[in-house]
Amino acid sequence: MIRYKSGLTPFIIQQYYDALTTQGIRCLVRNQFISGALGELPAQDIEPELWLLNAEDIVFAEAVLQSLKEDCATRAWVCSACEEPQEAEFNLCWNCLSPKR
Ligand SMILES: [Zn+2]
Repeated sequence: MIRYKSGLTPFIIQQYYDALTTQGIRCLVRNQFISGALGELPAQDIEPELWLLNAEDIVFAEAVLQSLKEDCATRAWVCSACEEPQEAEFNLCWNCLSPKR
């Protein structure tokens, strides 16, 4: 078992955990719920950690997280020219035909 990610927010760790388990990679989160129990501790002392049960999964895990980031980048966007919100699948603004940036 190896520590894979730390120094990230609980929200990000949870996203990574969900993505990895969906792909069949066995992993677990440590320190996730301590903040609620102890309340006043500084965040850096209780940051969550993502662990992989099998160290050899790390290559696949990297690929999964990379595609997760690319997925985020292809979501809805806002036109930089007229500020109209756009659907992810369009590369031109429907309103002013500016290209996606
Ligand atoms: Zn526009």
